Amino acid sequence: MLIDTHCHLDDPAYAHDLGAVLGRAVDAGVGACLTIGTDVASSRRAVALAAAHPNVWAAVGIHPQDAVQWTDDADAALEALAGQPKVVAIGEVGLDYFREASPRAQQQAALRRALRLAQRRRLPVILHCRDAWGDLFPLLREARTPPIAPQGLPLVAPQGLPLVAGVLHCFTGDAAAATTALELGLTISFAGNLTFKNAEPLRAVARRIPIERMVVETDAPYLAPHPLRGQRNEPAHVTKTAAVLAELKGLSVEDVGRITSVNAHALFGIGPAPARGVIAYPIRDSLYLNLTNACTDRCRFCALSEPEFWEGTGAAPFVKGHHLRMPRDPTSEELIQAAGDPSRYREVVFCGYGEPTIRLQVLVEVARALKANGARRIRLDTNGHGNLIHQRSIVPDLAGLVDEVSVSLNTATAQQYVEICRPTFGAPTYEAIKTFIRECKGVIPSVTATVVAMPGVDVEACRRIAVEELGVQYRARPYDDVG
Ligand code: SF4
Ligand SMILES: [Zn+2]
Ligand SMILES: [Zn+2]
Repeated sequence: MLIDTHCHLDDPAYAHDLGAVLGRAVDAGVGACLTIGTDVASSRRAVALAAAHPNVWAAVGIHPQDAVQWTDDADAALEALAGQPKVVAIGEVGLDYFREASPRAQQQAALRRALRLAQRRRLPVILHCRDAWGDLFPLLREARTPPIAPQGLPLVAPQGLPLVAGVLHCFTGDAAAATTALELGLTISFAGNLTFKNAEPLRAVARRIPIERMVVETDAPYLAPHPLRGQRNEPAHVTKTAAVLAELKGLSVEDVGRITSVNAHALFGIGPAPARGVIAYPIRDSLYLNLTNACTDRCRFCALSEPEFWEGTGAAPFVKGHHLRMPRDPTSEELIQAAGDPSRYREVVFCGYGEPTIRLQVLVEVARALKANGARRIRLDTNGHGNLIHQRSIVPDLAGLVDEVSVSLNTATAQQYVEICRPTFGAPTYEAIKTFIRECKGVIPSVTATVVAMPGVDVEACRRIAVEELGVQYRARPYDDVG
């Protein structure tokens, strides 16, 4: 499932075969298309297309190249169109200093009007920006900041207008522009140009942007992806951009589809609402099982314990596009059924948002059933508190069932563990985790100590403890890349 968040279906290029184009989109798994207005007339056509086709939604706006058209009359017309059903954004709007078809001052004035319209209608904006980052970001910041009264006291934002949410469409900026966009809370959209042979610099930028903040688009009929470059583009071809993103991110195309669709749904409310509280979920070629949301840590980097940390990122409580907050713990039977045929996966992982060993008995029952059903490999991701939770060594329970255990060590000292992970069992927890790791060694075929590289954590010291002191494998991951 993919969502094409930016196409121009009202373009004359589709005058004769739009039905076939939309049919091919559905066949390719593109469940929703957002068609974008570029002036008042095209915005009107976009609204009509959305009304006529169940999988099409509309955005209304004036492209910066026609910014001179943003008159009071146009403003009123767009305001009315923005209130129509299935209009989910203001766009495309922005700044284009590459072509500079409208004078810069006029482009800026039009963008200010667009941002005000988006705030009044409480809609996100779809931003077009070429060679104008230095002016775009200050304008967006200005829109996000309540006006300052002459005495220097902040005024209440007019009519309590919310901040501007939005997407940078067809992103072509560098790493610095991406960083600023992410700080401003924007989503970043990649189009077919990501697939071009000469787009290695853009791919390098995409590698560094969290996929939780990305959507995909075609910008059809323009920008057909490699190897169709130069031909008429259409929404079905968004799969090609998704495939390149999957390669860049080390994910499957299904993962990219699910994650970017969740992001598009969060931003525009288009496409099917994501399933909530999943208990079995695939990422890459692994199947993860969500045993419980209960935990004996409250890690500062965890969306389970720190929802505000993730607020605005669109991520929590999602992991790679899966919503993991469950209304209650699932039973063994529910887990076994949700897992389906475990032989289809390279590994089955007991993980989720929560500590799986809290439910040791369920874990053992399910692992046993999955092995009997042909599971190739079973991994346990744990905080290593199992012995403390059960007041005895749980390692014998895991022997012969779990092929690999991955234990979150997270810090190099007991004191820092208390500060960052805030464990229920207090200061003795850190030594207990080490003991658990030592006990696993020799009983579980593969043992890894992991670290979430929070700012201030000495990852090199952690590596030494894992490899030299405990004699197990070691892995670190960035704190903002979950799953
Ligand atoms: S141990 Fe895992 S689930 Fe528990 S609070 Fe820490 S990161 Fe979250
Ligand atoms: Zn554009
Ligand atoms: Zn466009």
